[in-house]
Amino acid sequence: MNVTKRKVRICGCGFPVVQRTSWTHDNPGRKFVGCKFYDFSIGKARSDAFDWVDEEILEWQKDVTNVLIAEKQRLIGEVKVLEARIDCIQRDNNRVHEEHEKMKIKYDKMKNCNVCQGFWLSIE
Ligand SMILES: [Zn+2]
Repeated sequence: MNVTKRKVRICGCGFPVVQRTSWTHDNPGRKFVGCKFYDFSIGKARSDAFDWVDEEILEWQKDVTNVLIAEKQRLIGEVKVLEARIDCIQRDNNRVHEEHEKMKIKYDKMKNCNVCQGFWLSIE
């Protein structure tokens, strides 16, 4: 049997390296392998195992990708604003609906009033 086993690269910390995607301004969308304990908040790993998977990106690719990332962020913000607006409209709609139900009840009471017998409803 010919089984080719893929070599798993082990990091200095003892765990296999993992593949990730860089989203920095200089390397947007570029894949790399490195320590699985890379801490993005401080930009440091337990070990310095690190290799780019992709070839270096060209300047125009970097620019286009960064523009698209910025556009994506802008659109995410726009979606949030629209969702908040929809939420607001739905609440308004519920309020109007409740008001309408109350008015229907009032209308029926006036229509069936023993005293005025709906007289006030005939006046515009
Ligand atoms: Zn490691």
